[in-house]
Amino acid sequence: MTTRDTKYDIVVVGAGVGGICAALAAARLRRKVLLLEESKEIGGTGVHSAVSLICSFRDKDGRPINTGIHRELFPQAYTACKGLFDAEETVPTYDEKELKRTYEHLLKAEPLLTVWTDSRVTGVRADSSSGKILDLDVVSGEGEDFAVRADFFLDATADGNLSALAGADFQMGREEDGKLQTATVTFKMIGFDPSKLQNPRFTTWSGIHSLRKELTVYYQQLKDEGGTRNPRPSVLCFPYPDGRGVLFNSTAITDVDPTSAESVAAGMREGTEQALQLASAVKRHPAFAEAEVEFIAPKLGVREGRRVIGDYMLTADDCLNARKFDDMVAACAYSLDIHDPLGGGAKLVKIGGPGYYHIPYRSLIAKGWKNLLLSSRCISGTHEAHSSYRVMSGVSAIGEAAGTAAALAIWSKADDARDVPAARIRYVLQAGGQFVEGNVEKVPLK
Ligand SMILES: Cc1cc2nc3c(=O)[nH]c(=O)nc-3n(C[C@H](O)[C@H](O)[C@H](O)COP(=O)(O)OP(=O)(O)OC[C@H]3O[C@@H](n4cnc5c(N)ncnc54)[C@H](O)[C@@H]3O)c2cc1C
Repeated sequence: MTTRDTKYDIVVVGAGVGGICAALAAARLRRKVLLLEESKEIGGTGVHSAVSLICSFRDKDGRPINTGIHRELFPQAYTACKGLFDAEETVPTYDEKELKRTYEHLLKAEPLLTVWTDSRVTGVRADSSSGKILDLDVVSGEGEDFAVRADFFLDATADGNLSALAGADFQMGREEDGKLQTATVTFKMIGFDPSKLQNPRFTTWSGIHSLRKELTVYYQQLKDEGGTRNPRPSVLCFPYPDGRGVLFNSTAITDVDPTSAESVAAGMREGTEQALQLASAVKRHPAFAEAEVEFIAPKLGVREGRRVIGDYMLTADDCLNARKFDDMVAACAYSLDIHDPLGGGAKLVKIGGPGYYHIPYRSLIAKGWKNLLLSSRCISGTHEAHSSYRVMSGVSAIGEAAGTAAALAIWSKADDARDVPAARIRYVLQAGGQFVEGNVEKVPLK
């Protein structure tokens, strides 16, 4: 029987980008934090589903608007790329193994932060009349049970699993039919010969667009032969930063329900099959004749799950019209990007005005709950708005804000997350280097 410390100030459930940024932010404010992850390793989607592209984090003039922990995760994207999508600019991408090492390095540096992997939250004891979570049931991979207590709980499970266990309200899918964006199994190919490509500079935007076009010809052949069920119309791929690999984000599995283990397992089987079929088509290109699949991502890439109802629901109009909120605590510059739930490819719509929008603190607070904050892509927003802030730049800013808010709530002995003024959260975020807008309120020294 393992003896573990089971009382913390803050428990963050889920160690993807949102949970890691939340845990770092709270621990750096000297709160005692537990980060729980059900997988054997930390990293979540960005590591184990390998997504490659560092999605836009700059306004229309190229100024970064996610300058907090996101910059520590992807420093090269801030220095090497201008982010203006010029044809000859290098595509800002990352290597998932490198990202995992960065996460581990940052987490290990925090003395007040404890990480439990292989530890799944299976139940929540809550008092819904007072709107408070009391403790969590955590089951380890060895089958041991722990009751974990804290003052504040952060849902960084992406799919709102913690909130659903607590009994919080949520929505799933688009309004008309409840359908979710497609899921994807990504894979990496290496050992190809760029000199045989029409544009060998495939690490640039013009080069990667040219490569996608060339490969789509062979993919279309495969489709015409009936060699795949993949509904996507074309090939989507990205270069690895070292210029030696290509990440294919190009399989599409419809109707995956991320809240059902059976559905996720079936999606993984279908996606793996599609990945191998696509790889065989890619190898028909002379540049890829000797190429091999280096890995198939071990985790199904799920784009969308539960969206927990919060005090405010962010909408597509808010995003596209670059809406500003008095209680902004994060910002996002990425387009609305809906991967057609029926499999027909992705549709991108750019953010208007300055090219970014505010994410209000109210969207991070689960409605009716005092000590439950949302710190991953499960925040309160519509299907369309979610398609934008779900990317790692948006989610890292959401996580950092949620972790900061929880730490300040404990600092000020607040009973309810709502008692922490957004201007105070902004003050602390700004002091840590994060981009904020609006007035700031100094945190009194204790
Ligand atoms: C195929 C695909 C391609 C994408 N492409 C890009 C891209 O190019 N660029 C980009 O920026 N973004 C991209 N995204 C989006 C982005 O990667 C994710 O939305 C983002 O990483 C989600 O982060 P998160 O912290 O919200 O969730 P996750 O990283 O999914 O982390 C949630 C964690 O919670 C854990 N968890 C869940 N339930 C429990 C529980 N009960 N107990 C304990 N732990 C639990 C999970 O195991 C997981 O590790 C893509 C997504 C997909 C699926």
